[in-house]
Amino acid sequence: MIYVKESPQHGRGVFAEAPIVTGALLMTFTGPLLTRANLDPHDYHLQIGDDLYLGPSGAADDYVNHSCAPNAGFVSGFTLSALRPIKAHEEITWDYSCAIDEEDFGGFPCACGVPSCRKIVQSFRHLPREVRERLRPWTLPYLRERYR
Ligand SMILES: [Zn+2]
Repeated sequence: MIYVKESPQHGRGVFAEAPIVTGALLMTFTGPLLTRANLDPHDYHLQIGDDLYLGPSGAADDYVNHSCAPNAGFVSGFTLSALRPIKAHEEITWDYSCAIDEEDFGGFPCACGVPSCRKIVQSFRHLPREVRERLRPWTLPYLRERYR
């Protein structure tokens, strides 16, 4: 259903092999459980709680790029679902602010290129309230619990 290749946006990305319908389950994120002290900040990681991260899995979930107008999100658990119909060979993206919530995360410039781009990828807590409310249904479970 998905494949990894060079992305026009950043490094490698994940793409749809064939058209995908809204609600389809795309992939589940996995990887070694790490605390911040023992993760490599330059290596792939996903924040899943307070001082809790999934390190690189070596599978496609390591390579899904960010978008400020994503076509996928964490509707349930650590599984990425299609938020709208995805065309064949379209890049699959999710909004990284749906996982990151470190107080001291400085953010990084966004190159997603959509008209509604926020220009910087930030911690969930530092987003404007209306953005948090829009993104909340696609956040990881710990954030849904924190910002109920
Ligand atoms: Zn953006």
